[in-house]
Amino acid sequence: MNLTAESHRVPLSDGNSIPLLGLGTYADPQKTPKGSCLEAVKIAIDAGYRHIDGAFVYFNEHEVGQAIREKIAEGKIKREDIFYCGKLWNTCHPPELVRPTLEKTLKILQLDYVDLYIIELPMAFKPGDALYPKDENGKFIYHETDLCATWEALEACKDAGLAKSIGVSNFNRRQLEMIMNKPGLKYKPVSNQVECHPYFTQPKLLEFCRQHDIVIVGYSPLGTSRDESWVNVSSPPLLKDPVLNAIGKKYNKTAAQIALRFNVQRGVVVIPKSFNPQRIRENFQIFDFSLTEKEMKEIEALNKNVRYVELLM
Ligand code: NAP
Repeated sequence: MNLTAESHRVPLSDGNSIPLLGLGTYADPQKTPKGSCLEAVKIAIDAGYRHIDGAFVYFNEHEVGQAIREKIAEGKIKREDIFYCGKLWNTCHPPELVRPTLEKTLKILQLDYVDLYIIELPMAFKPGDALYPKDENGKFIYHETDLCATWEALEACKDAGLAKSIGVSNFNRRQLEMIMNKPGLKYKPVSNQVECHPYFTQPKLLEFCRQHDIVIVGYSPLGTSRDESWVNVSSPPLLKDPVLNAIGKKYNKTAAQIALRFNVQRGVVVIPKSFNPQRIRENFQIFDFSLTEKEMKEIEALNKNVRYVELLM
């Protein structure tokens, strides 16, 4: 098999399709030099990536938009070649805030539409300027909203052409069912972005989503950056795993490439983050080999059912 990631797309239930490999763009804004995301997205596009995963709360959407626009201006790509996924943050769940929030993202990106807009998390925070509102005891201030009403507002954004497809993130089966069983549902979620890698393979959610034609987009597919401020580092580093490394040796690939290949081979979209030119290119080189059924089973058996991203909120 010698396919490029460009041709490697998965159909979505609304008739669109999503590239199996995308570039993740979350990097701690305090520790990441300005312009790193801009450079990374440009390098990724040159390397062949067509799918970029971003969010308003990553504080670098302006760099993503600039990179895409520069590459369009260069004639390297057309807007329709790119698949950009943006996310609705927790403080913006009230239905009347959804469209203005997406419009703000589009203004930051300086693009006319996003390809996919997803509810980033199923829980809502108090609306307002504070993105992480907390009370005097340091506890998050939540907000009661009806997720189904939020979803209807996303449906309206799709109808208005501001988002080509709509989906969710960090939703469990119950939350997905709540949306899918909503009276008057116009569009079901095309995708659910969740943590997914060889130590957290999500067998039950994957099966449920397969049955309902919902694509799983696996975040932290390399086991995260292991930043202790938001990652549970008690689980061992994924990329040091002996099985992944041994299989990698056989194919002259790295443990990272094996972890990514494992997911794409079972139809899970992966969005590894790298701002390092060499690793951006490395992560793209996963379409020129395939794992045997036995190797897929061996990797599946590594599952520990433990999250790196605990989402303690
Ligand atoms: P990840 O992609 O699993 O890992 C990123 C880390 O791995 C970075 O430290 C990166 O460093 C390093 N890395 C990249 N390629 C490598 C390679 N080939 N070999 C060794 N190390 C490598 O983790 P993530 O950032 O948590 O997840 C990916 C994306 O998913 C995010 O950027 C974001 O877009 C999305 N996400 C979404 C949610 C959600 O709630 N929806 C949550 C978490 C993440 P360098 O940059 O130095 O290469």
